[in-house]
Amino acid sequence: MQYPSKPHVLVLGGNFAGLTTARFIREQCGDKVDLTVIDRKPYLLFVPNIPIEVFANRNPQHTMHMPIEHILQDDGIEFIQAEVKAIDVETSLVDYVSMERPGAPLEHIRYDYLVVALGARLAYDKIEGFGEYGFTLSDTYHANRLRRYLYGGGYKGGPIVIGSSRFHQGTKGKPNWLPTALAACEGPPLEIGLSLGAWLEEHGQGGPDKITLFTPGPVMAEDAGDEIVTKLLGMAGKMGYHYLNNTEDIKRLTADGIEFANGKSLEAEIKLVLPDWQPHSFMKDLPIVDEEGFVITDLTMRNPDYPRIFAVGDAAALTVPKLGTLGDMQARIVALQIGKDLGKVSAEKADEPFRPAVICMGDMGRDKAFYIHSDVWYGGKTSVIKMGHMIFALKLAFKEMYYRTGGKPSHWGLPLSELLVEHLL
Ligand SMILES: Cc1cc2nc3c(=O)[nH]c(=O)nc-3n(C[C@H](O)[C@H](O)[C@H](O)COP(=O)(O)OP(=O)(O)OC[C@H]3O[C@@H](n4cnc5c(N)ncnc54)[C@H](O)[C@@H]3O)c2cc1C
Repeated sequence: MQYPSKPHVLVLGGNFAGLTTARFIREQCGDKVDLTVIDRKPYLLFVPNIPIEVFANRNPQHTMHMPIEHILQDDGIEFIQAEVKAIDVETSLVDYVSMERPGAPLEHIRYDYLVVALGARLAYDKIEGFGEYGFTLSDTYHANRLRRYLYGGGYKGGPIVIGSSRFHQGTKGKPNWLPTALAACEGPPLEIGLSLGAWLEEHGQGGPDKITLFTPGPVMAEDAGDEIVTKLLGMAGKMGYHYLNNTEDIKRLTADGIEFANGKSLEAEIKLVLPDWQPHSFMKDLPIVDEEGFVITDLTMRNPDYPRIFAVGDAAALTVPKLGTLGDMQARIVALQIGKDLGKVSAEKADEPFRPAVICMGDMGRDKAFYIHSDVWYGGKTSVIKMGHMIFALKLAFKEMYYRTGGKPSHWGLPLSELLVEHLL
C-alpha cells in the first residue's frame, strides 16, 4: 500500500504491551513510520513486583513507576498524555481528551495502523464491599493500603482469604486450542498467598494456616497445567494453607468475611482479592471485539476484518490468562507484521504465529520465588517448575533489565531466564 506521507502507527496504551510494541515497531520499521503512543499516565506501572515491595515495607510508588516520556522521545515516538474515549474503525479516527489539565476538549487523531494495548479495567467497583473491606496488590495505591495495615499495627492476627472474582472470557473468534478460564490471572493470588504466609511467620503473626486460598474454578492456576498445579497446591497444603475451590464468584465482602456466589462464606479479617478483568466500556460495541469487549485477532495479532488494527496484551482476546509475558510475545509479532507490510521484514520471519506459554516468576517470601513455564493448558508438552533463591534474584533482575532497556527487554531476556532456570538450576 502507498501512503502520501509516512504511515502513522498509533499505539493506545503505554504500559507493558504498548510501550514494548511501540519500541519494537521503531526497531523493525526504522524511520519508515511515524509513531504515537497515547496513555492517560506518563509512566509504566511495574505490576508484577508490587507484592515484593509491600512485604518488604517499601513504598511501591517510589520503585514501581517507570517514566516513559523520555524513553519514547529518544526513539522518536510522540507521547500524548490523554484519555482515549472512542475508536472509529471505519474512519480510522481515535477520540481522546488531553489529561494534563481539566477542561481539555475532545480531539481526534488519525491512524494508518492501530495497536490496541489498553489492558483491561480491573473491576473492583463491581465487588460489593471492596471499597470498605477489600485489599489488593495490583496498583500502588491499594498496595500501600495493605502495607500500612500490615506494618502500621492494623492487623489483629485474624484469618485471611486470598483469591479471585469470576472472569468473563469471550468465545467469539476464540481458537479451539484456547480453553476458557474462570479467573483472569491466578499466579498473583498464589504468589501473594505464599509470600504473605512467610511474612506472617517472620513477623510472629502465625503462618500459612491463617490463610485460605480460593478460586472460582475447579482448580487454582489451572493454566499452569495439572502436574504443576498438583505440585504447588500439594506443597501449600503441607505448609498449612487452606483451600476452597468452585466458589463461582465473589458475592460480597463484609467487615467479618467474604461471601461467595456458590452460597459458601468464610470469616476473614483481611480480604485480599483480584477482580474480573473487564474491557473498557467504550470498547464493548466495536466491530473488532468479542461479546465481552476483548479485541479479536488472528495468530499474527491482526483483527481479521480490519487487518490494520492489532491488539496486544490484556486487551487482546487471545491473551488468556492475562499475563504480561504473553503481551511481550505479541508485541514482537506486531512489530514484525508492520515491518512486513512496509517491506522491511520478510514474510517468512514475520508470519511465525503466536504460540502462547505460561511463563511467570512468583514471589514466595524469604527471598525465594517460583518459576513456571508451561504450555500444557494450550495442548503443548512443556511443563517446568523450579523454586529457590536464584529465581527470586532473576525476578528482581528482570525488573532491572526492563527499566534499563526502557521496556524493550533484549531478545535473549526471556530465553536466557529459561536457559538459566530450566537447564542450570
Ligand atoms: C499482582 C499482579 C502480579 C502480576 N504478576 C505478573 C507476572 O509475574 N508476570 C506476568 O507476565 N504478568 C503478571 N501480571 C499480569 C500483568 O501485570 C498484566 O498482564 C500486564 O500488566 C498487562 O499489560 P498491558 O500493557 O496489556 O495492560 P496494562 O498493564 O493494564 O496497561 C494498559 C495501559 O493502558 C492505559 N489505559 C487504559 N485505558 C486507557 C484509556 N482509556 N486512555 C488512555 N490510556 C488508557 C493504562 O493507563 C495503562 O498504562 C500480574 C498482575 C497482577 C495484578
